[in-house]
Amino acid sequence: MRPKVYVTRLIPEEPLKKLQQNCDCRIWDGELPVPRDVLLREVQTADGLVSLLTDRIDATVMDAAPKLRVISNMAVGFDNVDIKEATKRRIVVCNTPEVLTETTADLAFALMSAAARRIGEGERIVRSGKWKTWGPMILLGQDIHHAMLGIIGLGRIGTEIAKRALGFDMKVIYCDRDRRPEMEKKLGIEYADLKTLLARSDFVTIHTPLTSETHHMIGEEQFKAMKKTAILVNTARGPIVDPKALYNALRDRLIAYAALDVTEPEPIPPDDPLLTLDNIVIVPHIGSASVATRTKMAMMAVDNLLAGLKGERPHHVVNPEVLAK
Ligand code: NAP
Repeated sequence: MRPKVYVTRLIPEEPLKKLQQNCDCRIWDGELPVPRDVLLREVQTADGLVSLLTDRIDATVMDAAPKLRVISNMAVGFDNVDIKEATKRRIVVCNTPEVLTETTADLAFALMSAAARRIGEGERIVRSGKWKTWGPMILLGQDIHHAMLGIIGLGRIGTEIAKRALGFDMKVIYCDRDRRPEMEKKLGIEYADLKTLLARSDFVTIHTPLTSETHHMIGEEQFKAMKKTAILVNTARGPIVDPKALYNALRDRLIAYAALDVTEPEPIPPDDPLLTLDNIVIVPHIGSASVATRTKMAMMAVDNLLAGLKGERPHHVVNPEVLAK
């Protein structure tokens, strides 16, 4: 019998076709995330689930899904899935690392440039008809070249950021749970603890996963430790930065600017105080949003799911202990 699969949003055509050739698929084709009650109903008969970072896959969902064997999350981050609960039920959870690394690093660099050179403010001036002349003092920003970049989390994306930064003649320091001596040597970058990194960096960019350790890792104390001219970039997960502390820091000019692809909550409500500030640029979680990368992510999510449903080892499992049992 063909396995039954629920897909929580429309995914690119080619991977969807592959899924449909191998499984009986039901798909939530709405523009917004699948409503909770629909998800809870649809998983009742599902053997597999293709989920997104907008879906909270917790114990309640798993309890409603007695046949569920594989959750294939179409994202490298999996903080939306309760891994402990899945492992307890021997449900395999998969993610989509690597294929989105460079695309996300590209966006982090684009955001860094947008903040440094005040692109959002400039755009608003042009569109509102307020651009009157070239001016020696208009929209002065900061140089990226030869500046100091601090990378928090030198994993896949963090490393790609370092490579881009070196191409811009930046100096690079990083912090992580562990030192990476081989990367320090290969790229010519330096390790620093978080406090030192914050104090020395002109740009700080976050590339850790969201965990209990990294939740609100950047708050009031960390903003106080940063340079007043510093620019903070977050393309990892919104809750790694305390949004109230960020608002205060930007308002009181403890730091100069922030650039966010991710917010807490998501989407950011239109009346959020951060949106009243000029020294911030925010885009709607588009880190991996290129045609090629989203297609690769969806294909990887489908391949992971199909392998898991066949009882084979998917390429990217986040709770391999389930397979070991
Ligand atoms: P990765 O390769 O696992 O890198 C994460 C790095 O952060 C690892 O070196 C990890 O160290 C380190 N880390 C973990 N906890 C830490 C802590 N408490 N303090 C300092 N460093 C810590 O992951 P990735 O592929 O680069 O992705 C990073 C994150 O970016 C993802 O988890 C996801 O949430 C986010 N992301 C966002 C987008 C977007 O659309 N905006 C796209 C892709 C990814 P260990 O190796 O020791 O764990």
